[in-house]
Amino acid sequence: MTGGPKAPDWLTSGYEHIWLPYTQMQTAPLPQAAVATEGSRIRLADGRELVDGVASWWAACHGYNHPHIVEAIRDQAAKMPHVMLAGLANEPAFRLAERLAELTPGDGNRVFFSESGSVAVEVALKMAAQYWHNKGETGRKKFLSFRGGYHGDTFATMALCDPVDGFHTAFRGVAPGQFIADLPRDDETEAALDAILERETPSLAAVIVEPLVQGAGGMLFHDREVLARIRRLCDAHGVLLIFDEIFSGLGRLGTLLAAESAGVRPDIFTLSKTLTGGTLPLSATLASEAVFEAFQSDKLEHCLMHGPTFTGNALACAAANASLDLFATEDRLSQVRALEETLVPALEPCRDMPGVKDVRGRGAVGVVELDIGSFEELTWLRQRFIEDGVFIRPFGRIVYLTPAYNIPRDDVARLCDAIVTIVPEWAARFEKKK
Ligand code: PLP
Repeated sequence: MTGGPKAPDWLTSGYEHIWLPYTQMQTAPLPQAAVATEGSRIRLADGRELVDGVASWWAACHGYNHPHIVEAIRDQAAKMPHVMLAGLANEPAFRLAERLAELTPGDGNRVFFSESGSVAVEVALKMAAQYWHNKGETGRKKFLSFRGGYHGDTFATMALCDPVDGFHTAFRGVAPGQFIADLPRDDETEAALDAILERETPSLAAVIVEPLVQGAGGMLFHDREVLARIRRLCDAHGVLLIFDEIFSGLGRLGTLLAAESAGVRPDIFTLSKTLTGGTLPLSATLASEAVFEAFQSDKLEHCLMHGPTFTGNALACAAANASLDLFATEDRLSQVRALEETLVPALEPCRDMPGVKDVRGRGAVGVVELDIGSFEELTWLRQRFIEDGVFIRPFGRIVYLTPAYNIPRDDVARLCDAIVTIVPEWAARFEKKK
């Protein structure tokens, strides 16, 4: 493969100083210089255009530069980009809290804003631990999560990720360990979870799970019965249940929340990624009124002990309000359901190719799992997709699509065709057997 056209100066000189995420900078090829976006397209500095299959880490659900969101950001920036949320109120944040609460009748009546998914999860953990503390059960500070899970890159969230495949083995032991169980997919694993809860409830604040799909763990799907089992056990033992809907939430699986399609209600849940349509950093932690109630008292120390500088940022909340409008005005969920009918059938030809382990998907997620054996193979695949004019970025053992919900049909076809063409090239080059 060629190295591509010459990179612009700002990229090569800045590369000497920037520290990139999850990138081995000694060996990684230079990233592509993106200079403009529109819909599902990314324009590069050399004039090439890529069809985007990833929506910028699963966030740009309305495509890039949607005029309704751009206008909302522009208006809010001209009026008031930010004021602190203590002692001062701003309309976008208060309106957004009300709208998010309306999306989640009963379950998420109280909304706390932060700026990233990881911090939203940290806030959920703090809510759960302080909930018990305020009730006088001061020993309940541990959490239980599930194998295959991913909840973020900060210390408390790292301790909840899959201990082997969760990206964070270098930090094992830095944060206090938590309980990691198998998802209760059958009676045996349900009994195992029951036994842990039976033993550990006096120290447990909450159980946390990504409902219906474990995203960064490799797009691993489970069905609603798994969540129903977890809910039943949490109720039986008196433990709070947190749904991390940072990936599954706001349409990705075809309903606004995975909790809604599963018919299972959490006590606390988190949103981020698509919350601003992928334009500005914002996350929300939503708690039921029953959780919030435990923070009401005449003692200051019973209030939620958390307050990031940019909580309730007016600019990001204005973008989020505009993003929510689009779910109604442009019928996004129908578009996701149409994608569900397109993605997996279009990827299905891969199933019988050498090196292919599985083809799966749900909603606006399509996955081809490969027998990827080395980082060199991943790098080769990533570069080859770019050469083919698409931005598809495999990780772990999967090649996946999480496009904008409103991606044009022709662009979906381009993405799927690229995968169906390039997987056999990869298999031949790296000598994969059937
Ligand atoms: N939780 C889930 C389910 C996620 O998928 C992610 C990110 O991929 C996070 C938490 C962390 O979000 P952020 O990267 O915004 O910190």
